[in-house]
Amino acid sequence: MLEELKQEVYEANMSLPKLGLVTFTWGNVSGIDREKGLFVIKPSGVDYDELKPSDLVVVNLKGEVVEGDMNPSSDTPTHTYLYNHFPKIGGIVHTHSPWAVSFAAAKLDVPAMNTTHADTFYGDVPAADALTKEEIEEDYEGNTGKTIVKTFEERGIDYEAIPAALVSQHGPFAWGPTPAKAVYNSKVLEVVAEEDYHAMQMTMDNSRLPQYLLDKHYYRKHGANAYYGQNNAKSQSHAKHE
Ligand SMILES: [Zn+2]
Repeated sequence: MLEELKQEVYEANMSLPKLGLVTFTWGNVSGIDREKGLFVIKPSGVDYDELKPSDLVVVNLKGEVVEGDMNPSSDTPTHTYLYNHFPKIGGIVHTHSPWAVSFAAAKLDVPAMNTTHADTFYGDVPAADALTKEEIEEDYEGNTGKTIVKTFEERGIDYEAIPAALVSQHGPFAWGPTPAKAVYNSKVLEVVAEEDYHAMQMTMDNSRLPQYLLDKHYYRKHGANAYYGQNNAKSQSHAKHE
């Protein structure tokens, strides 16, 4: 079942240690087949060097296991909540990468301070509220998804324009149209969090990007007028020959 997606999610999971985003087993990636309403996720507590595509667990949007011999990631209810509330995402990544965790621990947004940030995130990456005692006791992992969605709704943030969040006192979640893109966004968040930390040691005066520079970099890569990369080069040269 969903063999192609399992391979894709397996490769995305295996890229986490290679990118320096996970220590031990502290991370997971999932990917969803929206037509079938099923997602594939890493099994709980399995070392990356022992993980096989066939170990991945298939889960429905109620969070029930549909296929797999192992228990799914303990964060599965968070992934379920995010897939249900962010209907256009195709993959989710959770890690405890240290620079993003540093901002989460400090309960601070990762501010948009440089163009690397603006290339991927159209504004600050928000730090969602930490969970209350009641939320932790009631449904810890489900409410972890809920605090992210609540923050995006309350602040009016577009989850496609800013495809990541921190959960305060915990760590980062990132998402994207595919599992691989979600991993990419997770790594960009880690890089810009480190850069921001260093810049913030020096100054916070006038350090946030002005709107015109944020717009320039974000829309170079996103939307109808994007021109970064080679996607339009082919069609231009193709058009010349016709
Ligand atoms: Zn975690």
